[in-house]
Amino acid sequence: MIFIFNGFNRAALIEKLTGNRVISKLYDFVKTNRIKCKCAGLAMLGVGCLTMSLLCAGVTVGFNVSYSGKDIAVVGSRSVLQNAISIATENITDTKAQKAIASPEFSLTLTVSDRLENAAQLADSIIENTDCIGRAAVLKVNGETVACADAQSIKSFLEQRRTAFYVDGAENSAEFVDTVEVEEGYYLKSEISEVNEAKSVIDTLNVKTVSVIKTEVAIPYNTVKKTTSEKTVGYSEVVTAGCNGLSRVTESVEYINGEEAARTELSNEVVTAATDKVVLVGTAIKKVSASERATASSAGLICPLASYRISSYYGDGRNHKGIDLCASRGTAIFAAGGGTVTYAGYDSDFGYNVIIQHSNGIKTRYAHADALCVSKGQVVSQGDMIATVGSTGRSTGNHLHFEVIVNGVRVNPAPYIGL
Ligand SMILES: [Zn+2]
Repeated sequence: MIFIFNGFNRAALIEKLTGNRVISKLYDFVKTNRIKCKCAGLAMLGVGCLTMSLLCAGVTVGFNVSYSGKDIAVVGSRSVLQNAISIATENITDTKAQKAIASPEFSLTLTVSDRLENAAQLADSIIENTDCIGRAAVLKVNGETVACADAQSIKSFLEQRRTAFYVDGAENSAEFVDTVEVEEGYYLKSEISEVNEAKSVIDTLNVKTVSVIKTEVAIPYNTVKKTTSEKTVGYSEVVTAGCNGLSRVTESVEYINGEEAARTELSNEVVTAATDKVVLVGTAIKKVSASERATASSAGLICPLASYRISSYYGDGRNHKGIDLCASRGTAIFAAGGGTVTYAGYDSDFGYNVIIQHSNGIKTRYAHADALCVSKGQVVSQGDMIATVGSTGRSTGNHLHFEVIVNGVRVNPAPYIGL
């Protein structure tokens, strides 16, 4: 009022009044709506009075923002809208979604002051009211977009896939073989797919899992042979039972999609050492008594092998009822004496074997043969080839198990064959 009565200065008045934000808007309003005032002083007086009235009523002036035909906010100035558009664009990284934000329509209106929104709030409103975009995430593998879907679902499926190959009870870590990135933001709804589509893509991602696995492993015992000259060849006795030990092994195992790709032993701690099995083995050559030798010589038998090594005598530690003569597989076995073949066949203990009935009540058996050369009922002469050495039946190596049976009793064969 002082300005009006002390020499009117329009420019000074406008400058003074526009120092007030509200008056500035009203002035802008007047200019925008081309209100013709012949007397600027009166106009500004009117503006001042109106301002005072509005301020007293708690009302201020704002710009109504109408976007896509819908009123979405009231702001204090045009610049707020420009800032809001900038913020909305910055918040959207996807270029297609950026383009979807159309330029809002602008109009001016009066409203209460506490409804004015700032640029950030208006930016949110613009994004919310852009119907063709939605909040989602894209999944990128090695920089290439392979899926676009609900962000939480993508994150959840990725975590499920990453941990899918964990080993129970192990310390596990896992990572994707390829570079996998999730970028959340706003995208065109037309490009946001169903979560199951994203899951099917995620389930093809390669995962490297490293599991630290602890296992307890048996340490097998060793068998140690000790010899004694106090026992004859073929004697065998377990003097100390073997006992497996136990070790605790820690390994780092690398898997690709659950398939083992590499294994590294990190530590091997012996919990219990193994105990050796000790076997006492006889080395003495068996002596044959003079009476045994005299009886045997009357039988007139010969040794059924041309060359051999004795591996077990009659009556050794396991109640052996024959003598074992080692020779290589296929070595010829001869009839110890002439007679009739009463058995030529196979059984689980003796394998392929032959029994010859001699005269004078003596029988001989030739066991564990590889092949038989005679058949039951056949008459053979002393020295005829009747079979070949093998390891059939209950046998652990190539040898001839030779028995002499006198009147149904298996006797020591050694003296019968000159040993
Ligand atoms: Zn034997």
